[in-house]
Amino acid sequence: LRPDEHRPSAAEKEFENSIRPREILDFSGQDQIIENLKIFIKAAKLREEALDHILFHGPPGLGKTTLSRIVANEMGVHIKETSGPVIEKPGDLAGLLTNLEDKDVLFIDEIHRLSTVVEEYLYSAMEDYRIDIMIDTGPSARSIQITLHPFTLIGATTRSGLLTAPLLSRFGIKSRLEYYSAATLQKIIWRASEILHTKITSDAAMEIARRSRGTPRIANGLLRRVRDFAQVMGNGTIDLEIAQFSLKALNVDEYGLDEMDNRILQVIIENFKGGPVGITTIATAVGEESGTLEEVYEPFLIQEGFIKRTPRGREVTEKAYVHLGKSPRGGGPG
Ligand code: ADP
Repeated sequence: LRPDEHRPSAAEKEFENSIRPREILDFSGQDQIIENLKIFIKAAKLREEALDHILFHGPPGLGKTTLSRIVANEMGVHIKETSGPVIEKPGDLAGLLTNLEDKDVLFIDEIHRLSTVVEEYLYSAMEDYRIDIMIDTGPSARSIQITLHPFTLIGATTRSGLLTAPLLSRFGIKSRLEYYSAATLQKIIWRASEILHTKITSDAAMEIARRSRGTPRIANGLLRRVRDFAQVMGNGTIDLEIAQFSLKALNVDEYGLDEMDNRILQVIIENFKGGPVGITTIATAVGEESGTLEEVYEPFLIQEGFIKRTPRGREVTEKAYVHLGKSPRGGGPG
């Protein structure tokens, strides 16, 4: 499963929604983004204007959807949610746009997957709150211009590198979400377990936090599974021992790295003697797009000190060798 293709099941979605923060106060982390948003929201409200268009970009599960809903909530407007691949033709988009009320939010997830025609159609809507629609067909076909209510487009993407310059330039606010610290994830786990009526000790919450790849979605997902172990094997309380036991049983990596992370490290070590090696070469070897490696996987591996960027390509660090149980010269264990 690739993160940019993660489609949560209905049960997962329901679970996610049940613990998704609705108020800005319940949203932890991303402090700079939150501080700025508060100001932009306040200013837009004072001027009684729609909030500027916003682009949230960054790896999956960091809170782009959550923040978009919070923004609409704080603005006191409705939010309509859709996604890039769902909007097949300009008519679909026109339908969504004409149904928006004054200052509403239109949320487009995976906005990098909009088709070119739909994207170009979006430009005038974003810029002047106007669209042209075709009426009639054949010789009597003509286009008429429709004025929309002022609205806010919030786009979310894991692959901002795929967005065109004209689209990018139409977002007044662009925010990149960062991976969360273990301490912030611990707080998020703490809050989620309260909502789930599950007791958890602070060291157990920290253990789950450390192994969640800096990602709230993963942290919440692990909490849900560990809670099962605690209920069946203990008295329902998640303590450090239960957390460690269940994470081991669930095969969760010591650092929270996922399968692709580990494959990347393994390929650099085994096929390229630890690097340096170019990103496209790594991409071919692991069977993933180089842009996805650069925008989704690599930032975490670099942040956690498993990979270094050098002028000649990517190199693994000693930490990567140790993690995979290999020695920097040989390649075998030890
Ligand atoms: P994205 O849209 O970036 O893929 P979501 O907004 O869907 O991510 O977030 C995934 C899950 O993680 C949600 O269930 C939400 O409850 C949780 N989550 C994300 N960010 C935070 C946060 N800052 N505080 C608390 N929970 C969060």
